[in-house]
Amino acid sequence: MVDNHTVMVDGFCAECGCREIDGHSCFGQFEFPLAWEHNDPALYALHFWLVTCYMIQHPSNYTEEGYAQMIRIFVDAYDNAWDTPHILKVNRERVKLIGKISNPTPSAHRSRKSRKWSMTINDIYLGGEENAIEGLLRWKDTIRRELPTFSEQD
Ligand SMILES: [Zn+2]
Repeated sequence: MVDNHTVMVDGFCAECGCREIDGHSCFGQFEFPLAWEHNDPALYALHFWLVTCYMIQHPSNYTEEGYAQMIRIFVDAYDNAWDTPHILKVNRERVKLIGKISNPTPSAHRSRKSRKWSMTINDIYLGGEENAIEGLLRWKDTIRRELPTFSEQD
């Protein structure tokens, strides 16, 4: 997995805008569904979507080309309802073509731009383990609708 540090400013994530809850940072909340996956094969089957939803909301972890690639695989997989083995196969092939996808700039020196999303990791965390699948499926739908386009900023 790529380096996935997030930075909280005054209790909110500098990128996805989620709030700190129960003392957990944005990334700290992300670790919950990552743990729940290990108890639930049906949730684990959605691992690609969990990680990709989260990472799409944290672009500073990627090079520009790496981020664009992640958006493309998300859209292709979503719109064509690819199954996970196919997603992973295509992703491997494409990543090979573009080389480095994680941002080489150390976390502390990255610029982070905040953006509003209608769902963030807050919703998954607050929904709890029993609602994780349903929450993740909704998260993926809302992100598909709110995906950044590369011609506009903000
Ligand atoms: Zn965040």
